[in-house]
Amino acid sequence: MNVKNWPGCGKMYVQNSLGMCEACKIGEEEGFSAIKEYIEENEESTLGEISKATGVSVKKILGYVREGRLMATSGMAGDITCKSCGEPVTIGNFCEACMLKLNKGIKDAYSDDNSPKVETKRTGIKMQIKDKF
Ligand SMILES: [Zn+2]
Ligand SMILES: [Zn+2]
Repeated sequence: MNVKNWPGCGKMYVQNSLGMCEACKIGEEEGFSAIKEYIEENEESTLGEISKATGVSVKKILGYVREGRLMATSGMAGDITCKSCGEPVTIGNFCEACMLKLNKGIKDAYSDDNSPKVETKRTGIKMQIKDKF
């Protein structure tokens, strides 16, 4: 048995498939459904209001957004920002523009390989993905 001290609540926990203290996991799921219920009833609620009403910390709510489990409404959008450019995002880690850039960078790199201008055979230069993060 692998017993660890879970940093989430400071209690000892037996390592399990959840990767965290069972009580905390239950708390997290309860917190999430409380948030969901609250948002369903109060569509334009702000992050602060949701936190106050559900008792779930702002940090945790933002964590749900990063995980893609929650999508920020306009009221919450300013509280979570793109990891690349700092613009407000509503879900995940990157804004739409950066997501596009990210995808385009990968696409460009692939299409360059087939471009007649790139004479990879002659020069032997390997192509790299542009805008690599
Ligand atoms: Zn716990
Ligand atoms: Zn961005």
